[in-house]
Amino acid sequence: MDLRVTVEVVTREQWGAVAPRCRETLKCPAQRVVIHHTALLHCRGIRECMDQLIHIQTMHMQDRNFDDIGYNFLIGGDCTVYEGRGWGVVGAHTKDNNHDSLGIAFMGNFNNESPSPAALSSVKQLLQCGVSQGHLHPGFTLLGHRDLGDTECPGERLYAALKHLKFP
Ligand SMILES: [Zn+2]
Repeated sequence: MDLRVTVEVVTREQWGAVAPRCRETLKCPAQRVVIHHTALLHCRGIRECMDQLIHIQTMHMQDRNFDDIGYNFLIGGDCTVYEGRGWGVVGAHTKDNNHDSLGIAFMGNFNNESPSPAALSSVKQLLQCGVSQGHLHPGFTLLGHRDLGDTECPGERLYAALKHLKFP
């Protein structure tokens, strides 16, 4: 694996996240990655995606009483990677499974819509980057939320696409 793998990530500061109420450190490296979808509208372009990120964070902190946006990272409809809680932080995305995993959400609803090859490539690069930086175990398990709970998440089409995400 190329140890210099990098991926461009739009930081919380850049999208205008509010500070988390608190942060719990995730024991590194994470052993599992859980893929989600937001089940919201697809966002196009950085401005639209950033507005939606603020909406998701507000929803998670106010309606669900989470300490922060639930996911570690999000993938926009524009295939951009957005920082959620980031690396090495326990998320709030998969009940009873947050302490050894990273939660990554594709923004949109993937029950009927397929993820774009570019979005899949973004997540692949992000995960390779996580491994190369020691945040993620090289032999990590990639799961869909439905593997761990009674939910449709991450949507039929995205779930099917995960099988084709091959890691070297
Ligand atoms: Zn989910």
